[in-house]
Amino acid sequence: MEEIKRLLLEEKATLLLGIQGKTDKQNKIVSDIGDAIDSSVEEQERELDLLLQDRNQARLIGIEEALKRMELDDFGYCDECGENISKKRLLAVPLTRMCINCQSIEERSKLAQNAFSRADYTSQVLTDE
Ligand SMILES: [Zn+2]
Repeated sequence: MEEIKRLLLEEKATLLLGIQGKTDKQNKIVSDIGDAIDSSVEEQERELDLLLQDRNQARLIGIEEALKRMELDDFGYCDECGENISKKRLLAVPLTRMCINCQSIEERSKLAQNAFSRADYTSQVLTDE
């Protein structure tokens, strides 16, 4: 479990650095905006950065939650069935909340739902079970 904790702490540090770096860059763009010739490109870049930052922040929150669960000794159990999630799986996807079995069931049902909505199936069919 120490191994996974270290993995999470490392990724947390990387994300924090990334978020910090992006913020600096954004401040710079704002101060340079006056003489920006191709401002629409910069605008797009900035939106992309913000999007990326949102994702990093969400990931960071996930990591912090995982670390908290580790402290409470509530880490590495499947939310669905309560079984231990394999260490191999945790190393690959440390933020997962489901064991491989439940995950594949979930993914299959999501796929099925997508297929339903693509076929413009009414939601009645899905909620009626
Ligand atoms: Zn499970």
